[in-house]
Amino acid sequence: MTTDDIFASLGGRDADGFPAIHSEVFHTDAGTPYLQHAGVVMLAKPDVSTEGIRPFLEGFDDDLEFPGYLDDPAELPPASRLSKVAGQTCYASFGPKRTYNVDAAKYFANQRSGGHGSVLEHATFSFLCYGISRSNTHEIVRHRAGTAYSQLSQRFVSGKVLRFVERPEYRNHPSLHKRFEERIDRAARDYEEIADELLTLQDEGDALLDAERKTDRRKRVQQTARSVLPNEAETILVMSANVRAWRHIIEMRTDPHAEVEIRDLFFRIFSCLMQAEPILFDDYVVESFPDGTYGARTDWRKV
Ligand SMILES: Cc1cc2nc3c(=O)[nH]c(=O)nc-3n(C[C@H](O)[C@H](O)[C@H](O)COP(=O)(O)OP(=O)(O)OC[C@H]3O[C@@H](n4cnc5c(N)ncnc54)[C@H](O)[C@@H]3O)c2cc1C
Repeated sequence: MTTDDIFASLGGRDADGFPAIHSEVFHTDAGTPYLQHAGVVMLAKPDVSTEGIRPFLEGFDDDLEFPGYLDDPAELPPASRLSKVAGQTCYASFGPKRTYNVDAAKYFANQRSGGHGSVLEHATFSFLCYGISRSNTHEIVRHRAGTAYSQLSQRFVSGKVLRFVERPEYRNHPSLHKRFEERIDRAARDYEEIADELLTLQDEGDALLDAERKTDRRKRVQQTARSVLPNEAETILVMSANVRAWRHIIEMRTDPHAEVEIRDLFFRIFSCLMQAEPILFDDYVVESFPDGTYGARTDWRKV
């Protein structure tokens, strides 16, 4: 299967140049919501205009023909364009002997084989990720270099947005699936009952729960009640990273040794990035694993 086929088979959509793979929400009989896969939505990507550099290019000797740099007829997606301009700035490769956009794939293959991944740091992509468990995000946020995270606060939000994530190992086994459903019903109920009890104590003036501001009062209750939530509670996050960081994280987290849930998430992100910027990821070979997930492997790890 091609990467396009896999993107489509995962339910990928790319109506507006911002690819997304959504995830269905299920409910237990008691109404507790849960998801079985990560949902990923590209929220942001670079917006690049090179026209502004014309006066800069015109400032050099006419014989160098630098303004011709802007006449390249082949279009590139924005991150490829930005990274190529950045790379070509290093050698003032603006003249007619430069690599043209039509050969961008070869240009980036050379960058990768030379380990010049820093040009990829200019281009950042942001994703909204949902349907991921607290245990998963605990691992995700270990990636520091070139990343930014904004994660759902269990202290701030109430049980109204509480959802859960079912591990793949449980899905097709009726007894484990039933236990999962019973467990999350219980967790949701416990959370609600404990929050109610804590609210009563707060109203009675309990010193540990008391606070001046309404928001702080709510936080005091929720930060306590969340202690009963399991690893399989859902979390939501916006994750941004530059292309060099995305590549490294995808390599580590879609590796056969990576955990299955995190592999599913980062393959989905890879799949969206591949739709948007194929040239920057065209060295990856997709592997399929017996557990139904995929991995992306390259000879040029950690450029
Ligand atoms: C299969 C697997 C199993 C794991 N098991 C465990 C485990 O049991 N326990 C555990 O604690 N963690 C575990 N981890 C997490 C792992 O150790 C890393 O913390 C995590 O993957 C982040 O990757 P990174 O270190 O490459 O950091 P990133 O932040 O992604 O950084 C990318 C690269 O930048 C460089 N860099 C970043 N920060 C620094 C720095 N401060 N100093 C120098 N160089 C830096 C490094 O070269 C690094 O590889 C596991 C990860 C995987 C993929």
